[in-house]
Amino acid sequence: MEEKGRIGIPRALMFYRYFPLWKVFFEELGWRVIVSDGLGKRGKIIYFEDSCLPMKLLVTHSIGLKDKVDHLFVPRLVSLHRDYIMCPKFRGAPDIVRLATEGTVSILDETVDLRTREHSMLRSFLKTGKRLGADEKEGKRAFQKAEQFFLNFQKGWEDRINQLPLKQVFHLETPALPKSEEKPFQVAFIGHPYNLFDTDVNKDILSFARSLGMRIITPDGLSEKEIGAQVSDLSKEIYWSSGREIVGSLFHFLSGRVDGVVFLTSFKCGIDALLQEFIRRRLKLKGGTSIPLLVLSLDEHSGREGLTTRLEAFRDVMEESTH
Ligand code: SF4
Repeated sequence: MEEKGRIGIPRALMFYRYFPLWKVFFEELGWRVIVSDGLGKRGKIIYFEDSCLPMKLLVTHSIGLKDKVDHLFVPRLVSLHRDYIMCPKFRGAPDIVRLATEGTVSILDETVDLRTREHSMLRSFLKTGKRLGADEKEGKRAFQKAEQFFLNFQKGWEDRINQLPLKQVFHLETPALPKSEEKPFQVAFIGHPYNLFDTDVNKDILSFARSLGMRIITPDGLSEKEIGAQVSDLSKEIYWSSGREIVGSLFHFLSGRVDGVVFLTSFKCGIDALLQEFIRRRLKLKGGTSIPLLVLSLDEHSGREGLTTRLEAFRDVMEESTH
């Protein structure tokens, strides 16, 4: 198929969950997908307003991409759950990028709000497809292919995250991997997907964890039911879908299925601050936890050294509590 042009996808925020779906959708419609590079050692974060690090990275990646593409894909993610919403910053993300890029690039920013009606994800993609000249039939076919690819991709997730260098986890060309070997510790890493998988945010802490003998488990494989079961009796409802996922999965894993739990938070994230309070209160009510829990706060000033030292100490604690 003749290439129709280039779509830029910033390597930020929900890229770290939905990239496989997004990429296949655009490619099926005949567009080439260009992803921004990581920051690397010398890369500079562009400061735009006083924001959390993940949002600053969205702006940085968008500015880095804008001259290389015909359109930037920055969807307005209002809700990715039937009942709960995303952090309000996601709602404004395309506007922030538009301001930061000063209107120099077209932005594909259709809204995704799964609370509104049936098939709203599909509808959003059909609108995006229409902006790219695809009719409904072509859009639907591309979306179905993308969705199927995404579901298969998710099935191999745990092996990817435990075997590939973290920077390659979203290289979709990598063929299916064999089952990964057992490690001395099963450790659940909890947090927003971009905190967990963006090496510019977490200084590649997951690779270090693997080198310390930890098998990484993430909430990606948990069902809505498993998460819901852990948050249904909280004194206050959590309205943010990512917040529910974080608290629900954290307590799911703390109820005995792993050797340790690590919660990666964003320093300037109001939601993460509140979630920590929820967790602290709930643990107090339960009389603490027998499974070691480590909370690591991340921002642009976090040094790898400090993070690795804490993770090493955490490994020692797990060793003591399993013997
Ligand atoms: S949830 Fe927190 S880290 Fe994520 S975009 Fe919102 S404020 Fe930033």
